Order: sequence, then structure tokens, then C-alpha cells
Amino acid sequence: MLRELCELHGVSGDESRVRAFLQSKIPKSGVEVSSDVYGNLIVTARTMKSPRVMLAAHMDEVGLMISGITKEGLLKFKAIGMGPNVLMAKRVLVGKEQIVGVIGHAPIHLTKRKEREKIPEIDSLFIDIGAPSKERAAEMVQVGDYAVFDTQYKENGDTLQGKAFDNRIGCYVLLQLLLDTDLPVCYAFTVQEEVGLRGARIAAHRVKPDVAIAVDTTSSGEWPEDRDLPQYPVMGAGPTITIVDRSVICDRGVVSLFRETAEEEGIPYQLKRPMIGGTDAGPMHLAGIGVRAAVISVAARYIHSPMAFASKEDIRRTVQLIRGGIERIMKEGKQWV
Ligand code: ZN
Repeated sequence: MLRELCELHGVSGDESRVRAFLQSKIPKSGVEVSSDVYGNLIVTARTMKSPRVMLAAHMDEVGLMISGITKEGLLKFKAIGMGPNVLMAKRVLVGKEQIVGVIGHAPIHLTKRKEREKIPEIDSLFIDIGAPSKERAAEMVQVGDYAVFDTQYKENGDTLQGKAFDNRIGCYVLLQLLLDTDLPVCYAFTVQEEVGLRGARIAAHRVKPDVAIAVDTTSSGEWPEDRDLPQYPVMGAGPTITIVDRSVICDRGVVSLFRETAEEEGIPYQLKRPMIGGTDAGPMHLAGIGVRAAVISVAARYIHSPMAFASKEDIRRTVQLIRGGIERIMKEGKQWV
């Protein structure tokens, strides 16, 4: 199921294929399913009770949006969630017809050494779909169409590789919990996280949770660089419990609960401490009169790029940790309201 989820195309604002896939997997009974005008998919267990727990995973992925066609038939674009350093010469699929394109660049023969050493500005990049003219390109692609990376999902032992791990892994974790447990909670599959944590804001206002948990991926930090990296979580070392990121200081009670759950169940875990990144927990903790919020994530290498790596075991452990933590919240009851 993770393969199918990752191979679906769903850049921010265009999550319908992911939503339809998830809808097709939702159990026929025992849940109430609703949506909103922006496309959040909210699946609530009929057994949901106080304390109200909301799990959120965003459906959207990073990608490109076509912003214009040049007189030569090349496509100008805006990048959603990425810088120019990961884009040069990558193969992409454009629009509903999934037309193959490449992020174009001047060939080595036509560039000076100095130019080749610089990372170009995004605005100077373009997608080439091989169209011989503006007119021909306009027959194939429209302004506003999306483009995604043409990356296949593969497994190599415990290591998974593919695109859109951020955040189809989170969607997969929620789906596993939804299908394999009878937790009395609400599952929100949210839209437009990568453009400003938007869908979760709307969903949290609707659900009115007491406790909200964003389930996401986080950057794995083992790249070779002379920087102070020990604070970064790494792939394969277990689920990541966030202490703080740029969007939220996680609720200390919920953080402790997950740490205790991990220790009791023998689940290896790591802490995310740097003030970087933001997740759906940002808007969720600010909903209504305030919500206790936390983030549980899977560390993946090279999220927000054409291809990422993640660990199957980390994903399995993440499902186990969230399940254990929620069972404790339910047992402790009133304390969380
Ligand atoms: Zn994410």
C-alpha cells in the first residue's frame, strides 16, 4: 500500500488522487467519513469519545506548478517546497497526461566554467517537454498544471526508496492504525501542508480535539558536513518525537507520554530538537481555545527532493508507538481533557 500511496501524484492543492485512494481503503463500517471544501478527508471512529484525539497526516507532496510557456515552447514553473539545488536536470511528469519533461539547462558546451559552478535561480529554470513551439506546448500543458518527479518506488531490504515519502508515509501510518486497531480517534488526512500548513487548520477547527498529533516525516541528518549534527534524527533509529520545531513547542505532557510508552514497550526512539521545519501540529495547537499537540515522525533522507530513503522498521515502530501512546491516553481519560 505504501508503494501505491507514494506513486500517486498529489502536489499541494491537487490531492484528489491520494484522497480517492485513501477513501477506497477506509472500512465500510464503524467510521464516519467527511470532507470539506478544501479536500481534507476526516475519518472518525464511531467509538470516538473524550478525550478527543486527532491524528493528522498531510496528503500533499512537494512538486512544481507551471506558471507560463515561453515563445520557444519551454515551461516556466514555480517550485512548491524545494530550492533550485535539487532540481537541475531532473525528469518530471507534467499535467494530467503525465507528459515526460526534463528540467532544462544549457549544455556544457555552451556554458562558461563560472556559470556551471553556480546554482541557478529558480526563475531561470524551465521544464522542456520537447515541444517545438509555444503553440505545440500549449496543446499539451496549461498554466496551473502540476509536475511531479518521475521516481519509482523500490524496496531494498529494510530500506525504502521513492518520492513523496513526505508525507505518504504519514498517510500509510494512519491507514495502518485505522485498519488494524479500534482506537476511538479521528484520522485527518490533510491538504496543503507544504504551502503553509493550511488544511490542518481547517480540520482542527472542525474536529475540536483535546489532543492532536501530527504524523509526518522529518529530515534525516547523517550527511557528511562539518556541522553540529547530533541533534538531528537519523534514518533507522526509531520513531522521532519532536520537542520543538518552528511551528510548535510540543505539549510536554504528550511528549512525556510517548517517551514513557516507547521505554515501556522497548521501542527505540529519538528526539527532534532543532527549531527547524513545521508540521500540521503548528495550526492544530492553535485551534479553538488551544489544543495539546505533538509530532511523531519518521526520519527520511532527502525529503523535499526527487527521491528519498526511509526505513521500513521505523515505520512499523511508529505505528506501534502511536498505538501505545493513544491507548495510554484513553486509559488515563479525564486528565487529557
Ligand atoms: Zn511533511
